[in-house]
Amino acid sequence: MEKTKRIAMIAHDNRKKDLIEWVEWNWEILQDHQIICTGTTGRLVEEALSLNMKGKTSRKPEITKLKSGPLGGDQQMGALITEGKIDIVIFLWDPMHAQPHDVDVKALLRIAVLYNVPTACNRSTADFMISSELFNEPYQQTLKDYEDYINRKLED
Ligand code: PGA
Repeated sequence: MEKTKRIAMIAHDNRKKDLIEWVEWNWEILQDHQIICTGTTGRLVEEALSLNMKGKTSRKPEITKLKSGPLGGDQQMGALITEGKIDIVIFLWDPMHAQPHDVDVKALLRIAVLYNVPTACNRSTADFMISSELFNEPYQQTLKDYEDYINRKLED
């Protein structure tokens, strides 16, 4: 991955406040990266970044907004990961409430692990990630080669 990261951000309703606080705390670092969010999270992140950047820089936050999570946004995010278009995932999911799209949440987390994408599911992990020197440097992550797996399937 390049120096400029493509950061996925998703927060369930009970975790949105946490994510927005984290974004406000880290706006100076985040302004140099591309952010891709599910719909509602994206609106809040954009608002928070715009407010913090206002008067301090002429730049505007670059946020791509997908569909809202329950309307397919998590699946869109998963598809972007399989295409190699996401470098980092910040996914503050709610551990206390079932979601209408629980299966999509699970699928997204699985795909993030499969593609070895650094994934933070709570604020402290997000803090450790954003404080890492790799956050602002190019990084070559290893990807398991699934060629044998595909070939075996074709032989069956
Ligand atoms: P939202 O979706 O950003 O549209 O709220 C998040 C989710 O619930 O997965």
